[in-house]
Amino acid sequence: MTQVNVPDIGDFKDVEVIDVLVKPGDSVELETPLVTLETEKATMDVPSSAAGVVKSVALKKGDRVSKGSLILEVEAAGAGASSSAPAASKETAAPKEAKAPAAAAAKDDASSADTMVREKPAIQAPAEDTSGGSYDYDMVVLGAGPGGYTAAFRAADLGMKVALVERWPQLGGVCLNVGCIPSKALLHAAKVIEEAHEMEVAGVTFGKPKIDTEKLRGWKEKVVSKLTGGLGILAKQRKVEVIRGIGKFVSPHEMSIANTDMTPQSTVLSKGENAPGEGARKISFKHCIIAAGSESVRLPGLPDDPRIIDSTGALEIDLPKRMLVIGGGIIGLEMACVYDALGTKVSVVELTDGLIPGCDRDLVRPLEKRIAKRYEKIMVKTKVTKLEALKQGIRVTFEGEQAPEPQIYDKVLVAVGRSPNGKKIGAEAAGVVVNERGFIPVDKQMRTNVSHIFAIGDIVGQPMLAHKASHEGKLAAEVAQGEKRYFDARVIPSVAYTDPEIAWVGVTETEAKAKGIPFEKGSFPWSANARSLTLGRDDGMTKVLFDPETHRVIGGGIVGPNAGDLISEIALAIEMNSDAGDLGMTIHPHPTLSETVMFSAEAFEGTLTDLYVPKKT
Ligand code: FAD
Repeated sequence: MTQVNVPDIGDFKDVEVIDVLVKPGDSVELETPLVTLETEKATMDVPSSAAGVVKSVALKKGDRVSKGSLILEVEAAGAGASSSAPAASKETAAPKEAKAPAAAAAKDDASSADTMVREKPAIQAPAEDTSGGSYDYDMVVLGAGPGGYTAAFRAADLGMKVALVERWPQLGGVCLNVGCIPSKALLHAAKVIEEAHEMEVAGVTFGKPKIDTEKLRGWKEKVVSKLTGGLGILAKQRKVEVIRGIGKFVSPHEMSIANTDMTPQSTVLSKGENAPGEGARKISFKHCIIAAGSESVRLPGLPDDPRIIDSTGALEIDLPKRMLVIGGGIIGLEMACVYDALGTKVSVVELTDGLIPGCDRDLVRPLEKRIAKRYEKIMVKTKVTKLEALKQGIRVTFEGEQAPEPQIYDKVLVAVGRSPNGKKIGAEAAGVVVNERGFIPVDKQMRTNVSHIFAIGDIVGQPMLAHKASHEGKLAAEVAQGEKRYFDARVIPSVAYTDPEIAWVGVTETEAKAKGIPFEKGSFPWSANARSLTLGRDDGMTKVLFDPETHRVIGGGIVGPNAGDLISEIALAIEMNSDAGDLGMTIHPHPTLSETVMFSAEAFEGTLTDLYVPKKT
């Protein structure tokens, strides 16, 4: 039997155990993380110094430990000699994390990009062409979101005659009108409020902010219309004909377009199919790209009440006193962040066991810690079972581990995901296969089962992100023009623009452990980064995952201000097959947050000087 104790964790004593990661009966390898400790400034995983089966665990959540405290007993299967240092801490740290448990089959590439529906549809011979071979357009693009407008512009640049069909008055789709852009404008306002408040400790006081919601809404709309207006100009310059209306296939080479007065706001929580308007016209095309996107999922059985909103409604910032956000994913938490900063008392309820499912827990922890202090309540492993519209508010009934008594909220934001619009475009008339969830299967060239019809963006599958849509849009246009291209991006970065921001790309630690992908990790706590401290923040962290054999970068995650901007360096490193030396030996400007990427690589290589890393004995 081998006892595993808390190793030297620097000057810290009585440090809180915030997570126990193993239980009796679990098999652990050398370096398997056992417990997570939290000092005032950083969290650290304590890795195992022995391999074998856990016989007993001496600690529980909430215990306080110091160097030498017993963590657990292991029935050894080849015990290591002494305790390793923890993964990272404020003054002392061993950011180089070691091997994942029993890494199985090596995975040569870092591809996690390919999570969408690439079911390789059987390509059909082009359906019977009744047009006589002459078409109104070389290319018709259905939907003018980031996928659609990019596809249309690229097709025009390649010399095609292009029509772009869109039901809303402005181009830009969900992203520009009711998604990425308005939410980020509001998040900026939230950030300014918070940063102004945080400067109080430095002797700079602004007083309580006065929020003029009408003006704020107007400013947000201005940002949006600048961008959507710009797209209109770009379309004109390229001679892309924008046709306003609801498009539906009527044959493999034809689409009908009905007039509409639909706006992004008027489709909020729309229950049915898009209703065709008056005066439909028909156009024919040689090629088509479907880019009709997605809409918010509506929970079944919800009362029809304006106090129950989706993300589009939330962007109208009609501020309630007390709001419940259903769904602890990226969209729900971003809106929660905005409402909290603007003075609403926010609660969040999430069905799974943690916020931002799919993201590594160590990246989410600083956000959890920050919002736990600010929000009224955060409930995980909890389900909403009933919403009732009462005069005094929306009465919500919960069920699950952290379920409170029924509560009354002034507003409820439903942010439980988005569903594709595949079943609303008459795809069957063109012979295009749509699966039961509304996604359109495509191959690696973004072709549907009908070879001259392509599909891109949210409508083809996860991840539903604007940058994935635009990448696919370009690709589909180029393939339609005859270029030999296919979707070969290795990774697609994800970002939550919360406070702090969280960004990750490539293989995650959770995924690597679940799939047995070998990896080693270098990490760097922002409490030791000069730039972060000058911003008044020390709660961030950067980690980079490497292939232990080749030292190539296979993934990474960042939490802290501007994480979304910083993650691109790791994405590029993966695409370029870069290794730890490439990152560590690239001179990064000082003082910047980007240095933490370089330091993480140095930590992995054992060349880090900006922290003291005790040598393993
Ligand atoms: P969409 O943007 O959905 O565009 C589809 C277009 O097709 C729409 O304009 C629609 O009106 C039109 N259309 C549909 N059917 C028809 C029809 N029959 N006839 C004519 N027109 C039709 N992603 C990010 O990458 N970063 C973010 O920060 C981010 N933030 C978000 C915040 C919120 C609140 C939301 C809701 C989403 C966010 N997203 C973000 C997701 C992003 O908006 C989508 O992934 C992206 O817009 C998908 O692009 P798309 O081109 O596939 O479709």
